[in-house]
Amino acid sequence: MTIRIGNGYDIHRLVAERPLILGGVKIPHELGLLGHSDADALTHAIMDAMLGALSLGDIGHYFPPTDPKWAGADSLVLLSQVQTLVKANGFRVGNIDSVIVAERPKLKPHISAMRSRLADVLELKPDQIGIKATTNEKLGPVGREEGIAAYAVVLLFGD
Ligand code: MG
Repeated sequence: MTIRIGNGYDIHRLVAERPLILGGVKIPHELGLLGHSDADALTHAIMDAMLGALSLGDIGHYFPPTDPKWAGADSLVLLSQVQTLVKANGFRVGNIDSVIVAERPKLKPHISAMRSRLADVLELKPDQIGIKATTNEKLGPVGREEGIAAYAVVLLFGD
């Protein structure tokens, strides 16, 4: 059996009049994330970790922000395409661990919904997906609520 590890990072700017979507879950907040797609930073970090584990490049290569096709895209649809690519390469996800860094809102009440949504797309059990939330202790751009960042690591098993 082959095992591969990947890591991913993403950050999106917080602005007015955009929805806040993380891990495929819409979270009530007065600000949302700006981006070409739905700007789901957690899902993007996970996708990059999955691609990175197989040295397949990054999500910008597969879903370029210059391509109008991905405007407003549901990141779970993009995640499902990355999952298809991982499977086509003979691998499957063993587990994912991730951290969302956000000053506000409180994300804890939404984490189990995020795990369920991501697990559905990735054909995993929710206990294979770790999602933690932390603040940046008011430090830097994330601490000033200018954006929300996410980090992910993924372990893939191959045949
Ligand atoms: Mg992104």
